[in-house]
Amino acid sequence: MIEELAVKTREGAELIDVTAEVQAIAEKSGVKNGICVVYVPHTTVGLLINENEPGFHSDLIGVLDRLVPQKGSYRHPDGNAHAHIKAGLIGSEKHFIVRDGRLVLGTWQSVFLCEFDGPRTRSVMVKVMEG
Ligand code: ZN
Repeated sequence: MIEELAVKTREGAELIDVTAEVQAIAEKSGVKNGICVVYVPHTTVGLLINENEPGFHSDLIGVLDRLVPQKGSYRHPDGNAHAHIKAGLIGSEKHFIVRDGRLVLGTWQSVFLCEFDGPRTRSVMVKVMEG
């Protein structure tokens, strides 16, 4: 079974913590030990594991903005080339180890949907497998 979360973003660029929702899906799956794949089916959204600390979130968005400014000599026609590039740099999926029915995460690790072309409603897809 594949679960899907709908996530409403509110800003042009922001990180949204989806750890609790993904953890709940892993627990509900009944899988005790295995792998959980989390995937965002979008071209201007990334999926990141990192710390839930607002200063870090603005730092990351700021660094990506300096690296890939909104206005630039891009060839992509939609005016959102920067968002595609940022999403490409962050990546669209993560794998997690499931142990004793829960994702194994370090003390300071959380799972974030990274919006780069919001606000929009986004999907996070979650598949948990025994093994
Ligand atoms: Zn585009």
